[in-house]
Amino acid sequence: MKYDYLVVGAGLFGAVFARRAADVGKKVLVIEKRSHIAGNIYTEKIEGIDFHKYGAHIFHTNNELVWEFLNKYIKFNCFINSPVANYNGEVFSLPFNMYTFNKMWGVVTPQEAMRKIEEQKASANISNITNLEEQAISLVGVDIYEKLIKGYTQKQWGRPCTELPSFIIKRLPVRFTFDNNYFNAVYQGIPIGGYTKLVENLLQGIEVKLNVDYLENKESFDCITDKIVYTGSIDAFFNYKLGALEYRSVRFENELLDIPNFQGNAAVNYTDINTPYTRIIEHKWFTFGKDECGNEIPKTIISKEYSSEWHLGDEPYYPINDEKNNMLYKGYKKLADKETNIYFGGRLGEYKYFDMDQVVASALQFADLELN
Ligand SMILES: Cc1cc2nc3c(=O)[nH]c(=O)nc-3n(C[C@H](O)[C@H](O)[C@H](O)COP(=O)(O)OP(=O)(O)OC[C@H]3O[C@@H](n4cnc5c(N)ncnc54)[C@H](O)[C@@H]3O)c2cc1C
Repeated sequence: MKYDYLVVGAGLFGAVFARRAADVGKKVLVIEKRSHIAGNIYTEKIEGIDFHKYGAHIFHTNNELVWEFLNKYIKFNCFINSPVANYNGEVFSLPFNMYTFNKMWGVVTPQEAMRKIEEQKASANISNITNLEEQAISLVGVDIYEKLIKGYTQKQWGRPCTELPSFIIKRLPVRFTFDNNYFNAVYQGIPIGGYTKLVENLLQGIEVKLNVDYLENKESFDCITDKIVYTGSIDAFFNYKLGALEYRSVRFENELLDIPNFQGNAAVNYTDINTPYTRIIEHKWFTFGKDECGNEIPKTIISKEYSSEWHLGDEPYYPINDEKNNMLYKGYKKLADKETNIYFGGRLGEYKYFDMDQVVASALQFADLELN
């Protein structure tokens, strides 16, 4: 059996490319090493809840083409991300906006809030910025830093802010409006029925084999296809011969609770240093507490997220695009460019953090170049 394309990985990049290729009459085989499709956007139905197994995913984009493309395969609900921060039991609105400033200082008008922040910046009197703590205080003052940035950032990076480089926080957006729409994108929402259903619809009519690792069966797959679109890790493809690219990982502790409402919001960030997790996701609120038929869901699932060090073999989540790793990636990219008839795409193939809309845009762009 000869295929035009072997797509390695049934994540979003692989599924979008496979769809485009199949639509122009190409014979496509998708293989996936996990036991399910959808890659990291996989959602599993548990007690009527779409459970985001590899971390909460909220779709948002300003790209009309991407939005129109995806809407051919699924409808989105109108979920808007409005996370809150819990600092030792005090609750603040995020991202930093007038609700946050009102709770922090009792200020009511934008002018009062601006004055307060300016006063705080001035009294910190930082002229020479040498670390992340100084950078954050010089941008938003000491109160916001202490209550909403310090502990959270330390937990995320596993090091005190005084030992982190200032460039991690280039800007800290503050809004002097009562607007807590986090992404503020033109199009946003959650696929109705879950992300797995979206990928299932994209892959309709395309041959998919699960539980198959391409790298373990490379020779046998290479001889049944003309071209390969590879969305796995680029360093793994080359057997780590230049070294392993590094990631930061996240560990999830999931609980199914026999109560209808745990925290009243999809995302609550824990910004104090004593709570060991960075945030809790309550999955049912991505669909307003209702199942696909519109029924109230009686139970709930929560995920506590712990930022963690990554070791080879762990789930790679966030690429660490520092100088060392970017250089290493460049080395692998050179090797990849020498390969004929194999293309590297997606977050692992390009060693880059992509939001979902960027992955779709990149797969569509690649498909246009490749298939036309
Ligand atoms: C914790 C977290 C939260 C996120 N939240 C958001 C969000 O809220 N909004 C947003 O827009 N984006 C979010 N993202 C980004 C989003 O997850 C990615 O944009 C998207 O999953 C990338 O899709 P992909 O196809 O490139 O990669 P993947 O989903 O990783 O797909 C690659 C697939 O290839 C398979 N594979 C790898 N190697 C092999 C092999 N050798 N053989 C066979 N199969 C193989 C893998 O098992 C995987 O299924 C988040 C990312 C993380 C880490």
